[in-house]
Amino acid sequence: MASFKTLDDLSDLSGKRVLVRVDLNVPVNAEGKVTDKTRIERVAPTILELSKKGAKVILLAHFGRPKGAPVADMSLALIAPAVEEVLGAKVATSADCIGEAAASAVAAMKDGDILLLENTRFHKGEEKNDPEFTKALAANGDIFVNDAFSAAHRAHASTEGLAHLLPAYAGRTMQAELEALEKGLGQPARPVVAIVGGAKVSTKIDLLMNLVKKVDALVIGGGMANTFLAARGTNVGKSLCEHDLAATAKQIMVEAAGAGCAIVLPVDGVIAREFKAGAENEVVDIEAIPADAMVLDVGPKSIEAVNDWISKAETLVWNGPLGAFEIAPFDTATVAVAKHAAEETKAGKLVSVAGGGDTVSALNHAGVADDFTYISTAGGAFLEWMEGKELPGVTVLQR
Ligand code: AMP
Repeated sequence: MASFKTLDDLSDLSGKRVLVRVDLNVPVNAEGKVTDKTRIERVAPTILELSKKGAKVILLAHFGRPKGAPVADMSLALIAPAVEEVLGAKVATSADCIGEAAASAVAAMKDGDILLLENTRFHKGEEKNDPEFTKALAANGDIFVNDAFSAAHRAHASTEGLAHLLPAYAGRTMQAELEALEKGLGQPARPVVAIVGGAKVSTKIDLLMNLVKKVDALVIGGGMANTFLAARGTNVGKSLCEHDLAATAKQIMVEAAGAGCAIVLPVDGVIAREFKAGAENEVVDIEAIPADAMVLDVGPKSIEAVNDWISKAETLVWNGPLGAFEIAPFDTATVAVAKHAAEETKAGKLVSVAGGGDTVSALNHAGVADDFTYISTAGGAFLEWMEGKELPGVTVLQR
């Protein structure tokens, strides 16, 4: 991985205006209250470190999808109290992120102060990475720090453009994420095992194609395993299955064989006739799925096989649950494998990196989220990284 500058390269920041791109796109309830402060907690160390180093810390963020014009309930002023609570520090706000409102708010700052500028997406120039808008943002800063890995797959003014105009640094969360990803697929210790689960192959074709070239074994679970099983001739009954993707599944298996990557498919499954909690269920051999049943989780022999791979591996990357984990008992395989990976990680035998939407909630559900080497909450950016795509907000920091 090309190197990038971090906060270690910034010491005394007295008098310096530091524009910090953060992810404050937090969930709020009907009363406008923040219901999950995880994202704020993730960027707090960067903000507090810069403030302690004497910087005027000016936060840039988007919130929701206002499509280039102000929308009252997408104002970052609504989020400011939650940011203050997490930081334990006063956070000023401003009615705009550029122009007179922003300039006067910045001019009023003292060293160490924190200011949250208004939603960058209230301007069309943000998502267009418009040079004039980027210049207007840069006018309020001497230094740019990007701590929003989760927005790094977009080349927007506040995630990419600014790094061309100001000296650019990775914040602590960005740094941690990039270092973890490097360990996961950049320069991983081998053997590397990937687990890909979840509902459908169609949403993860690029990801599967990239992984077979990079990992030693690819475990395919969840609903998407059925598409692979059906492609090789297994009868999957009423299971979720994309029969029209049989050719794609076969191609992925051919690519894997060519690259020396073992494809690990379920050898047994937990079947039910209804998709609901506590539905009557049983374990069957994968070649004995009744025509009127669906597979909702991988079975015990499959769990053992996956755990054997994890025991042999030095590195694990994981996206997507092995079964319909939201409904008991179809969370069994996901929980068992997550616990085994957590044990191996705690014993210092495994580097485990996981991420992407449902994976985070599945690992939280298994109670092991703190025991993995790194869990990315970045969603789209994490998936694009797993797909081997370039992330513009990262590339520009590595120039
Ligand atoms: P994804 O967002 O693609 O990672 O998919 C996650 C979803 O896949 C979860 O909601 C799971 O319930 C679902 N899923 C996993 N395994 C199965 C399965 N065997 N049958 C149906 N849905 C599944």
